[in-house]
Amino acid sequence: MAAKVVIVGGGVGGTIVANQLARKVNGKAEITLISQDDQHMYQPGLLFIPFNLMQPDNLYRSQRELLHPHVVFAHDKVVAIDPEKKTVKGEKGQWTYDFLVIATGSRLAPEAVPGLSEGGHWFYDLDHALKLREALRSFEGGKVVIATGVPHKCPVAPLEVTFILHEWLEQRGLREKTEITYLYPIGRLHSLEPVANWAAPQFEERGIQSEVLFNMEKVDPEEKVIYSLEGSSHPFDLLITIPPHKGQKVLIDSGISDQNGWVSVDRHTLQWKEDERVWALGDTTDLPISKAGSTAHYEADVVAENIAARIQGGESGHFYNGKVFCFIETGLDTATYASFNYKNPPRPPAPSPTIHWFKVAYNQLYWQTVQGLL
Ligand SMILES: Cc1cc2nc3c(=O)[nH]c(=O)nc-3n(C[C@H](O)[C@H](O)[C@H](O)COP(=O)(O)OP(=O)(O)OC[C@H]3O[C@@H](n4cnc5c(N)ncnc54)[C@H](O)[C@@H]3O)c2cc1C
Repeated sequence: MAAKVVIVGGGVGGTIVANQLARKVNGKAEITLISQDDQHMYQPGLLFIPFNLMQPDNLYRSQRELLHPHVVFAHDKVVAIDPEKKTVKGEKGQWTYDFLVIATGSRLAPEAVPGLSEGGHWFYDLDHALKLREALRSFEGGKVVIATGVPHKCPVAPLEVTFILHEWLEQRGLREKTEITYLYPIGRLHSLEPVANWAAPQFEERGIQSEVLFNMEKVDPEEKVIYSLEGSSHPFDLLITIPPHKGQKVLIDSGISDQNGWVSVDRHTLQWKEDERVWALGDTTDLPISKAGSTAHYEADVVAENIAARIQGGESGHFYNGKVFCFIETGLDTATYASFNYKNPPRPPAPSPTIHWFKVAYNQLYWQTVQGLL
C-alpha cells in the first residue's frame, strides 16, 4: 500500500516539501497538503507594499496551481493532531498518516504588547502593510520610531525597513524634517553579531538614532509614546513595529509544541523529538536560527529527502546544517546579504546595486523556487 504523507501548512516549507517529495517518489506515496489559505502569499513582498514598490496582486498565486499534480490539496484549517492515532483533524475533513510534516509557520502576537494594535503600524500582513502605506502617504515629517518584538520572522526586516524609509524620505524631501529612531531588544543592533557590527556605521552615515535593550512593554496610543520593560520611553508621530510572534495554537492544544507554539526538533534531521515519523520545519521549529523563508527552503530539501528515503525503504544521508541566506535591502536600489550556517557566521559584503537586482529578480524567481524547480 502507498505510504500516506500529510503536510500541514502551504507556505514556503510545506509547499516545497510536497513538490519535491512528489517528484522523488513518483507516485509511490499519497501526498496531501492541508492549508487554511488557498492563496499562497510571497511574504517578503510585504516589505515593499508601504513604499508602493510592489502591489498586493504581485504577492499571490493559487496554492493549488503551485503544487505538483500528484499532490492532493485540501483547503482546510487543522484544529487537532493526534500523534498516537496518527490522525489530523480539520474543520472540514480528517486524515490518517504514516508520515507527518508540520509547516504551519508563525503568527503575529501584537496582543502581547498592550496598546500596540491601537498605536502601532506594521507591515507583516497585507492589511497592516496597506495601513502603513496610507500613514506614509500623509506623513509630513516628525518622529518615526521603529521597534522590534521577539521572536520574529525575517530577522533583517527591521534593518531593511529602516534603510528603505531613510531613502524614501530623502526622495520626498522629508528626511531633514524627520528623526528616525531604531529600538532593538538586545544589546546590539541585530541578533547576529556580524550584522550588528556591519549595521552600526551604516546607521551613523544616515543619521539614524538607536537605542538597544529596548523590549516593548506598552504603547500609549493617545499620548503616542512607546515604553520599554527597561524603563525608557520614546514619543512618536509614526510608530513602525515588528510585533512578537508565536507558533500556532493547534500545536499547543495537540501537545506537540511548547506553550509558545514552537516544536522541538533535531537540528539536523528536523524530526520531532517525540516521534520520528513527524517532521517540523520553517518558522514553527524551536531551533535557535533565523525564522526565514530560506531556512524553510533549505530545511524542506532535507525533509523531502528523508521522507523519500523512508518510503523507498532506506535511510537518508541528508542533514540540515543550519544554512540561511537573507538579502538585506540597504535603501531603494542597493542591498547586501547575510549567508551563514550553524558553524559559519555571516559576513555581509559592501552593499551594491547588483545585489539589490538579485533580490528584485528573486521576487519573481520565488514562484519557481516554491514549486521545487530551482
Ligand atoms: C515582511 C516580511 C519579509 C520577509 N522577508 C524575507 C526575506 O527576505 N527572506 C526570507 O528568507 N524570509 C523572509 N520572510 C520570512 C518568511 O516569509 C517566513 O519565514 C517563511 O514564510 C516561513 O515559512 P513556513 O513555511 O515556515 O511558514 P509560512 O510560509 O508562514 O506558511 C505557513 C502556512 O501554514 C498555514 N497554516 C497555519 N496554521 C494552519 C492550520 N491550523 N491549518 C492549516 N494551515 C495552517 C498558513 O496558512 C500558511 O500557508 C519575510 C516575512 C515577512 C512577513
